[in-house]
Amino acid sequence: MAAGHPTSDRLSEAALEGWLAPLQQAARLEADRGHGDLKGRQERFSGFVHRSLAAPPEALPPTDRQRLISLAEAFVGYAAASAEQRRPLVARLRQTLHDLRLAARPAELPAPPRLRLAPLPGAAASGAAPSGASSSGAGVSRPLEPDTPLAEVPGIGPRTATRLAGLGLLVVRDLLHHFPRDYLDYAHLARIAALEPGRTATIVATVRRCHAFASPRNPNLSILELHLQDSTGRLRVSRFLAGRRFSSPAALHAQQRQYPPGATVAVSGLVKESPYGPCFSDPLIEVLEAPGAPVRSAQIGRLVPVYGLTEGLTADRLRRSIEAILPRVAHWEEPLPEPLRQQFALLPRAEALVQIHQPADRERLQQARRRLVFEELLLLQLALAQRRERLRRLPARPLQLPAGGADLVTRFLALLPFALTGAQQRVLAELRDDLARPQPMARLVQGDVGSGKTVVALAALLTAIEAGCQGALMAPTEVLAEQHHRKLSEWLPQLHVRSALLTGSTPARQRRTLLQDLANGQLQLLVGTHALLEDPVQFDRLGLVVVDEQHRFGVRQRNRLLAKGLQPHLLTMTATPIPRTLALSIHGDLEVSQIDELPPGRTPIRTALLRGAQRSEAYGLIRDEVAAGQRAYVVLPLVEESEKLDLRSAVAVHRQLAEEEFPDLRVGLLHGRMAGEEKQAVLRAFACGACQVLVSTTVVEVGVDVPAASVMVIEHAERFGLAQLHQLRGRVGRGAAASHCLLINDSTNALARQRLEVLVRSTDGFEIAEMDLRLRGPGQVLGTRQSGLPDLALASLTDDGEVLEEARELARRLVSADPELEHHAPLRRVLEDQRRRSLDAARLN
Ligand code: ADP
Ligand code: MG
Repeated sequence: MAAGHPTSDRLSEAALEGWLAPLQQAARLEADRGHGDLKGRQERFSGFVHRSLAAPPEALPPTDRQRLISLAEAFVGYAAASAEQRRPLVARLRQTLHDLRLAARPAELPAPPRLRLAPLPGAAASGAAPSGASSSGAGVSRPLEPDTPLAEVPGIGPRTATRLAGLGLLVVRDLLHHFPRDYLDYAHLARIAALEPGRTATIVATVRRCHAFASPRNPNLSILELHLQDSTGRLRVSRFLAGRRFSSPAALHAQQRQYPPGATVAVSGLVKESPYGPCFSDPLIEVLEAPGAPVRSAQIGRLVPVYGLTEGLTADRLRRSIEAILPRVAHWEEPLPEPLRQQFALLPRAEALVQIHQPADRERLQQARRRLVFEELLLLQLALAQRRERLRRLPARPLQLPAGGADLVTRFLALLPFALTGAQQRVLAELRDDLARPQPMARLVQGDVGSGKTVVALAALLTAIEAGCQGALMAPTEVLAEQHHRKLSEWLPQLHVRSALLTGSTPARQRRTLLQDLANGQLQLLVGTHALLEDPVQFDRLGLVVVDEQHRFGVRQRNRLLAKGLQPHLLTMTATPIPRTLALSIHGDLEVSQIDELPPGRTPIRTALLRGAQRSEAYGLIRDEVAAGQRAYVVLPLVEESEKLDLRSAVAVHRQLAEEEFPDLRVGLLHGRMAGEEKQAVLRAFACGACQVLVSTTVVEVGVDVPAASVMVIEHAERFGLAQLHQLRGRVGRGAAASHCLLINDSTNALARQRLEVLVRSTDGFEIAEMDLRLRGPGQVLGTRQSGLPDLALASLTDDGEVLEEARELARRLVSADPELEHHAPLRRVLEDQRRRSLDAARLN
């Protein structure tokens, strides 16, 4: 795009921004969510983009406008394009918008000064000769191996090695992979007049005068004051010299002599605000030999890495330790072959490692980071792809349907009082496609609360039953299992399908006959909790297992099935929508389907934040809704540390509501300590309207379906995660009546409030999950341990979505052509090495 066009008047700048920002945001979301042509409030992504690009702001130069209009043409076919065709289009769009934004920046700042940098030791060795040929002679000593202990590295030594061990850095590989947390941008060169407070910068200036003096208040402190100037302005710089040795007149004089008037200095530091304008306090200063001479400092004028440190280890010490190893690791094996590096425009590994620790500039740093992130995600995805591939090579029974029209599924769908949504139909087709293959299905269906996953799962189960197999439907709680069973009982008898419920509270006698019928194949569908996988349960011909409301069906559970000689098709369903990047990195071994559309006719839930003092308003609403024939939930958080306390609070709130607030209504109580039967009875009473208000702990969180409930009051809302609140909220708004969710929050924490506001604004589970992820981080959202979230050194699950997609596609391509990576030996070795080390680590823990 043409650079620096004159969009100087503010009106057109604002117009450009108003046009650009929503487009950029839409493009980012579209890419993050996997190029599904997202549906916005009024139109789809492609429609929005086409419309916006076709009418670019007047302020843009004609060439840019023309380019945008022709890009708009490319988006006409977007809706019909495949994901592979969509990706490059969106990438082009993002690049174009990015360029536009850069070009639109006002270019009134003075040109930055020039500064030459002397080469650093690490960069010198490997930048030029990445093959590791030690051509540069003297400086390069013995190469280091990944497992060389740091204590044996010349230039580090035992003392520092002990300190590094405090960070868990024991061998050369560890230190090399101790990536900077951040960078100080001393590469930002600026003229004095263009300095911005709050930002780091480097200036090149002339000394006007210099003054060193002892602090009048503190005899241990001396102050050096430099008056500098460049062609744009003047600046005062002070440095503080701690220690008595600086305060003698001779020492002060020596300091002053270092900065003679007329000398050229390069100064790097954080720009601060002062009464006299921007200033540096305690910056790095180097006097240059001549105005154009190179700066020798390893920091001035550069991007300076900032590392996680530990007690007794200074930033300098750590930087020098890394400097000591960088030149001696360039010979390590490159896992990515040249053609792949070219295809994905990736730096060689050795160069990337140098650049991440000692970046030459922003651009090379970006490239280095991208290369290392790519590798990290590729290894992760390769491991998952291999797991998936091994699974696929196990034989499974293809569930072929007998040809002919009136099959079970068709008859089932005809029984439903509604038609499947487009998304339900699409996902069901994907499932049936999988089921007809001779490899076991491993698929995750994600769908927002209320998107109608149950009927889709049931249709899949009926497919299996029609093909002569048995099906199992597992829920995380007895409450849910019973609810599923109740629902199924509305339909299955009419279809002559025999199903039964098996939970911990099934009486022994009933259990015995049930297991018998299961083993001889008379029972076609078994509904229950994870107890279904327990030992005495033997199927005759288990064809499909559906797991409801789980993030994933664990490897352990699958092994249990395998141990029974079963290799059924597996379908996992979850309503905790996780952003696509997260889904890919956890479920890279699964296929993922999304039900991204709600059934029609739902009125959106209205959500409001209330303070405790406004509780009576909430109760007023409950009263009105109940008077109109609806029902209400009052939910209390469960704080793990004190289950007893929670119980008491649930019991107390229940008593208070039943006796004082709503003496004329039936108020039920549901909590986790109740026996299964008791819970069922309470829920049944609530479902049929015998009880109108239900006080509950979070046991209602997943899956409970009572369409007549239209109010949900959540106490201490700030204690819940956003995704969890969204789940809870999904318990209302299931019928046609307008529904309400009231979040009571007394916390004064601004972040807590900000999080809750997300729920007030949005009812889109994916958007909410994404915000939760950004505000709390993936570990918090999913719990690192239980979710199987990988430990990533560099990649960010919130920001590196595109690289993750690329890595995943490559991983699948490599593994399906060459499952054991025999033709990619270096890659296989890294992978094996990583696996071995993570096993070792697991053993140690
Ligand atoms: P979830 O995806 O949260 O498990 P459910 O399967 O419980 O959602 O479905 C929510 C409600 O929507 C149920 O009462 C179900 O009968 C109803 N439902 C499902 N699909 C449709 C549809 N296509 N049209 C109308 N209602 C539907
Ligand atoms: Mg459900």
